[in-house]
Amino acid sequence: MNAGGRRALIIGAGLGGLSTALRLAHRGWRVTVCERAATIGGKMNRWSAAGAVFDTGPSLITMPWAFRALFESVGERLDDHLELMRVEPLARYWFPDGQMIDHTAALPEWLETVRRIEGGGAEGWLALMALGARLYAISRAAFFERAPGEPPEAAVLAAARAMPWRALAGTLDRLVRCHLRSRELRHLLWRYATYVGSSPVLTPAMMAVIPYLEVAYGVWHVRGGLYRLVETIAARAVERGAEIRTATPVARILHDGRRVRGVETSHGERINAEVVVMNGDASRTAPLLGVERRPIPEARRSTSGFILLLALRRRPADLPHHSVYFSSDYEREFADLWERRVFPEDPTVYVNAPGADDRDMARGGVEPVFVMANAPASDGAAWDEAMTADARRRLLARLAAAGVRIEESDVAAWDVWTPRRLAETYDMPGGSIYGEAAHGWRGAFLRPPNRVRSVRGLYQVGGSTHPGGGTPMVVLSSGIVSRFIHEDTGV
Ligand SMILES: Cc1cc2nc3c(=O)[nH]c(=O)nc-3n(C[C@H](O)[C@H](O)[C@H](O)COP(=O)(O)OP(=O)(O)OC[C@H]3O[C@@H](n4cnc5c(N)ncnc54)[C@H](O)[C@@H]3O)c2cc1C
Repeated sequence: MNAGGRRALIIGAGLGGLSTALRLAHRGWRVTVCERAATIGGKMNRWSAAGAVFDTGPSLITMPWAFRALFESVGERLDDHLELMRVEPLARYWFPDGQMIDHTAALPEWLETVRRIEGGGAEGWLALMALGARLYAISRAAFFERAPGEPPEAAVLAAARAMPWRALAGTLDRLVRCHLRSRELRHLLWRYATYVGSSPVLTPAMMAVIPYLEVAYGVWHVRGGLYRLVETIAARAVERGAEIRTATPVARILHDGRRVRGVETSHGERINAEVVVMNGDASRTAPLLGVERRPIPEARRSTSGFILLLALRRRPADLPHHSVYFSSDYEREFADLWERRVFPEDPTVYVNAPGADDRDMARGGVEPVFVMANAPASDGAAWDEAMTADARRRLLARLAAAGVRIEESDVAAWDVWTPRRLAETYDMPGGSIYGEAAHGWRGAFLRPPNRVRSVRGLYQVGGSTHPGGGTPMVVLSSGIVSRFIHEDTGV
């Protein structure tokens, strides 16, 4: 059945809001997206300077099938609009003693590296990947594409019954320690907890699914920059009649206590709608409904980030697409982030240099280089000029210690994103990137629901909701929301 002009109002033009807009517009809903910012894309943002193009948020995607499935659901082929490029190595890791590892998805080569570093066999690594594969099969059917409480299919139940849950009872850290001896591989696997802004010593062992899916499904780039995904999804939604209004913050969600009625913008305009989908941070839904709710306590928030965008006149030699420079004390870094709640003295630094594979992003001979470290998502941190300059010094010092020297004269243009700027730009508590941290079972698996039970017709989509943060999960959450809307309204 076609919606025949029934109105759906989406609060926010992030990846989740735009993907939902596309799915609903395709089914005939009259879709209006209200975005508070002047541009679309939310955290999937873009900046250009001196001829270089930067993705200021995500720098890689995984599980490309999730994006392809979105396009297929509206009768399109992603590959007709975008070029997905598989990136190898997945990442280059530098350790404080000068050791370097290329983490490749090419199995024979990688197992050679594992044997060398472990000083023996690769059984531990293979056992972890085997667990990851089984977890992935169950998660995909029961968690990624379904909401908690929806009954899984019989085959999934059977697979779940056969799963060695005892091995997965503790934390990611415990699981990794049980399987690997070397500090290098332990640290490499710990880092996957930070993909969802979490700590390996607090996140459940089931997060071992993330390294598996990266190895199995690859790490991908979009030619021209990941922001092309945002533009392409928005364009397909607009082609189907969706209206996207930027600089239009929603101030209130209108409801009569039981049913949603629409929204009121901060300009005072009331827009009636049968369905409202919240794509802003889920912790903001209650205040928009006029319900007092305490913000997520700082200790439960996922991390924020400190980011330098450097338009360099030359790319440091041999810089691959993705590299990681480990802190001299990674344990201390997690204690800084989660216990002391301070920006680490010697942070682990991630560098994204897309020009290594994609010359479309490095025009005019200037290289876009994105440099990031994790930071606590705290409300009180000053992030004034002095603190920002100090953090910048710490990032560049870690790179210099690994032989990557960036001189002032190399920098044609630069920009900086502090947690405070992230918080203010995207309206997320303390600049927390992934909503609630995936700590313990509740944080990891019982995230804010896609369907708000207390107000009929109200839904939540995006990284702060089920199934979780990161671009593929966000696109999958739009699939769950649009299915719920179909079940609830018949269209
Ligand atoms: C620095 C950084 C690096 C990242 N790296 C990766 C990565 O490598 N790979 C990956 O997969 N993911 C990564 N992510 C995460 C990924 O960007 C997010 O999970 C995803 O983009 C979130 O999309 P979303 O739809 O949930 O919401 P958002 O992008 O947060 O969009 C929500 C939108 O809602 C708008 N909004 C909020 N409140 C209102 C209101 N009241 N009225 C109107 N509009 C409103 C906001 O302005 C925003 O545009 C990264 C994120 C950041 C910030």
